[in-house]
Amino acid sequence: MKSSLKTWHIHINGLVQGIGFRPLVYNEALTYGLNGWVKNDNDGVHIEVNASREIAHIFYQSIINNPPERAKITVSNIIQVPIRDYRQFEIIHDTMSEHAKVHLTPDFATCDNCRSEMFAPKNRRKHYPFITCSECGPRYSIVHSLPYDRENTSMDVFTMCEVCKSEYSDPADRRYYAQTNSCPFCSIGLALYNSKKKELSNDITTIKQIISKKWSQGEIVAIKGIGGYLMTCCASNAKAIATLRVRKRRPNKPFALMYPNLDLLDEYSLCEEEVKAISDHVSPIVLVSKQEKIKILEGICDSLSRVGVMLPYAPLFELLLDEYKKPIIATSGNIYNAPIVFQDEKALNELFEIADLVLVHNREIVVPQDDSVVAYTSYFKKRVVFRRSRGLAPTYFNDDLKLTSNNILAMGAFMKSTFTACHNGNIYISQYLGDLDDFDTQQNYLHTLNHLMRLLRLSPEKIVVDMHSDFLSTQKGKALALMLEIPLLEVQHHMAHFAALIGEHNLIHTEEKVLGVVWDGTGMGNDGNIWGGEFFIYHDYQFDRCNHFPYFHHLANDKMAKEPRLSAFALCADLKAVQGIIKSKFTDIEWKIYTQKLKNNNVLKTSSIGRLFDALASILGLSDIQTYEGQAAGLLQVKAEEHFNEYGLDYDISYGIKEMGSNFSGSELLRLIQSDLRNEIDVSCIAAKFHLTLVHWIDYIATEQQVAKIGFSGGVFQNTLLIDLVIFHLAERYELLFNQDLSPNDENISFGQLIYAEIESIRQKI
Ligand SMILES: [Zn+2]
Ligand SMILES: [Zn+2]
Repeated sequence: MKSSLKTWHIHINGLVQGIGFRPLVYNEALTYGLNGWVKNDNDGVHIEVNASREIAHIFYQSIINNPPERAKITVSNIIQVPIRDYRQFEIIHDTMSEHAKVHLTPDFATCDNCRSEMFAPKNRRKHYPFITCSECGPRYSIVHSLPYDRENTSMDVFTMCEVCKSEYSDPADRRYYAQTNSCPFCSIGLALYNSKKKELSNDITTIKQIISKKWSQGEIVAIKGIGGYLMTCCASNAKAIATLRVRKRRPNKPFALMYPNLDLLDEYSLCEEEVKAISDHVSPIVLVSKQEKIKILEGICDSLSRVGVMLPYAPLFELLLDEYKKPIIATSGNIYNAPIVFQDEKALNELFEIADLVLVHNREIVVPQDDSVVAYTSYFKKRVVFRRSRGLAPTYFNDDLKLTSNNILAMGAFMKSTFTACHNGNIYISQYLGDLDDFDTQQNYLHTLNHLMRLLRLSPEKIVVDMHSDFLSTQKGKALALMLEIPLLEVQHHMAHFAALIGEHNLIHTEEKVLGVVWDGTGMGNDGNIWGGEFFIYHDYQFDRCNHFPYFHHLANDKMAKEPRLSAFALCADLKAVQGIIKSKFTDIEWKIYTQKLKNNNVLKTSSIGRLFDALASILGLSDIQTYEGQAAGLLQVKAEEHFNEYGLDYDISYGIKEMGSNFSGSELLRLIQSDLRNEIDVSCIAAKFHLTLVHWIDYIATEQQVAKIGFSGGVFQNTLLIDLVIFHLAERYELLFNQDLSPNDENISFGQLIYAEIESIRQKI
């Protein structure tokens, strides 16, 4: 080795594994003629080279300035180390040397190169349903352990054929070091079963034809995808959709549609942001406007204004839809409220309750995930995450968010559960794991938690749980704290929502007061009532509840959330005139029972804006009993949108907050609405005025509190119209903060708990 050559060690961390980082480094090393090695380790990518100081730094800069497309570098450095003499450059394997610090790479949708190869007549992977490369294919969903190498994934059971092996070891090949590499000669196996569990075919060409035929005949096919099984049927066959609804016991909740290609989505006139989202490597379901000209069946998404659409994100779906050429319904393959089915045996045992055929493949799914869901507001194109799962979880990057406590586990909420782990300074937010009132969902939560704990060798120093409940995630958190003999912190639900915003926007150390508007359906408050229409001030590492929607009766526990008519009943307890409107929604006996309940002094109170939306939807005749969460509020939003579509977003008549002043309450609001109804004002106009009233109320409180920054979180802020109105009316005078990478709904609670713990520990030190 020349004497001018020194040995240099480079460390790069972030999202750096499973995206072609090592091949890129290898090629760069060859370009510069450097000897040494590159390897994946539990804290990212490590490189060692022999080079002069100048060349080493040029090499280093060229890597960190031009990393692979999907990479995200959070840490990088180069240091000189004792001289070692290397004779070549190689990619080396290493065993787990310490606790994992690396970010987990999410799953990627099929890339353009693989797509072209799959349809190229002479390509050796023509019509191969598991085509992948260094830039696409499953990652997080197939990882057993770290570092990300083939033997640590569910690809370990497949032996590459000679051709695949040569691609895998050729630095010039785009499958160089692609851990998911396979081809028709060393194929992942596919098998189509009928309801008698008889294998009909294992050949993709035949399978495509059978499934196409079955779809056109109105049959339902369960197909194993990336994060689990999807239930599919023809989207233009009303009978098939009706059958799917009956078998899934899902009377109204909208279904998502999978389109064969982007061209077929033309009729939706998607905006630029939507096109980008729908076709990028995450490939989520995008909730887009369902314009009048679009002929989709009523049974898909009743009278909601948006419909969920996506493109085939796995080559298998792409091939099936290329054959069928029409959109299909693609919804999570699960039984009723249970989580998505991802194990083949369970699929074959259970999914025939719904499906006529089940298509299985033998690449094991280790971590189940639903499809992610996003939407863009109609006017300002603000992105709203509805569900953060496949393609997004479990990575979370926020370069400016530096926490003092490095190892914390936050267990999340009861509904839309997730957990968040801060581990060696990295933050991992689990995929959406569902509502924990279902046994299978509980098992799935524990499965995912245990998997991530094992994968990263998590060693939390503190556990954070919800303050007021004793559901599974809280129990598990308490048990862990006890077992590990570490501190436990309990955080109130809505404060966690607000803390999530503070964290996302790096405002932990802000010196300015921030107003938090946290509106949702339900969360136990510190005073024993059910909160959900909250205003907080964050200042000096302190959260103070400064206002809330005036309390009204909380009736019949969980039933209230399912029956908007009960919210209407509770809100108009003292309003004879409104009672007249809703009396017909109850039987005489029901009316008597609920009236009796209201007289009970022990009845809980609630400040829930979610329930206020419900009440109004019921009074306006839109929904009395809902079959899925958010149905009534969604219908109310649609009505208001009709009005704004006609009169413009600058329409600005509300139920005057200023006039109501301190009299503002649910019953006062209902009194004004009832008077509009009596004057035969259109329902869509009333819905619009109601939305504006909420915006004006926020303005009123913000003025009162003398703040310049307002943050919004909680499920109510999935209402894209409300967001547009807030921006339209308040953005000029306030800095507005919305959840960005996280959903505003309860999925963000676990992250908020983590941030709250950080704030709490800072507060204790000052
Ligand atoms: Zn690819
Ligand atoms: Zn092969």
